[in-house]
Amino acid sequence: MPRYTRPFASRLPQVGTTIFSVMSALAQQHGAINLSQGFPDFDAPADLLALLDEATRAGHNQYAPMTGVPALREAITAKVQALYGAAYDVASEVTVTAGATQALFTAIAALVHPGDEVIVFAPVYDSYAPSVELQGGKVVYATLAYPDYRPDWAQVKALITPRTRMIIINTPHNPTGTVWTADDMAALQALVQDTDIVILSDEVYEHMVFDQARHESVMRYPALAERSLVVSSFGKTYHITGWKVAYCLGPQELMAEFRKVHQFNVFTVHAPSQHALAAFMRKPGWYAQLKALYQGKRDIFRQALSGSRFELLPCEGTYFQCVGYSAISDEGDRAFVERLTREHGVAAIPVSAFYPKGDDHGVIRFCFAKSAATLEQALERLIKL
Ligand code: PMP
Ligand code: GLN
Repeated sequence: MPRYTRPFASRLPQVGTTIFSVMSALAQQHGAINLSQGFPDFDAPADLLALLDEATRAGHNQYAPMTGVPALREAITAKVQALYGAAYDVASEVTVTAGATQALFTAIAALVHPGDEVIVFAPVYDSYAPSVELQGGKVVYATLAYPDYRPDWAQVKALITPRTRMIIINTPHNPTGTVWTADDMAALQALVQDTDIVILSDEVYEHMVFDQARHESVMRYPALAERSLVVSSFGKTYHITGWKVAYCLGPQELMAEFRKVHQFNVFTVHAPSQHALAAFMRKPGWYAQLKALYQGKRDIFRQALSGSRFELLPCEGTYFQCVGYSAISDEGDRAFVERLTREHGVAAIPVSAFYPKGDDHGVIRFCFAKSAATLEQALERLIKL
């Protein structure tokens, strides 16, 4: 191909390739154990795979309805009613999306006007800020301060202006594994109650909350739910990150705007997956099993690393464990994870990648959504460092 030589302005001049792609590629290149990008290395439940096969053979191979297969929308609303006591209308308040990334992007595109301010919490999941910037919105950063990464509500209050259109929250939190409390939700509610701020709540790790903590969904709080779009993803919940099926819930006025964009963004999502998921969601007991699975993996991971030179940070939820490595090296976190991948055969994510200015506290993130054998092999290498 000849080179493209005309001058043009990038819409995202500061953005390169996501750290998840970069580290997974580096892991592959060096044959390292990949604890970087967040995905399980074990398969989805066999009966879910069988249901997908059945759905394709039953002829569910044409466009699904734009808003999602009705049986799946029903299963989603029944789930959030049972778990959070929230009543969403199947027809007008839930939409199936092609992954949480698309749901988040669509929500932002639907609601953020040029010049609007959107508050996010750093360290922040990498898709939020570019999605806001593409709409001409201004990203305003609140801080989840190292090392305990709790929100500072006085700071958030000071960041709110008449231009604040949206606050994006994420609990359980990627990358830090913190889980917000009922007090956090009360503080958020108090800050937004006399405003027209919309909450975009990224709850993709809703079922990975450990010990005695509970998931504080905005859906538990009517005064927050009435102004929120909530996003969750089947990828995390059923070990199917590659299916890219997720959903968004919200009051019908917000959902109507969401759908205006969704219909021209993806229009509709992979139909057989939706039928399979609708059938699978009817089976009881999955969420408790999932929590137990990941709590067990977290405990094995932490137990082994507690005897190492890594410093364990708290992990209350998600399938990520953050660690400090100052006793091992004084390198920057990018240099450290690259060397860890190359020389020690374990890939991780540098947490500086989640900060707009690359703040580096010497912290890296491991994903422990891996089989017992993978974890054992990785831990053997890590405890030697
Ligand atoms: N939000 C957060 C916080 C995530 O960690 C991820 C992916 N791991 C997503 C959104 C995107 O989910 P999906 O793969 O369904 O697009
Ligand atoms: N959300 C996953 C993570 O944090 C990765 C998703 C992606 O690669 N975009 O690792």
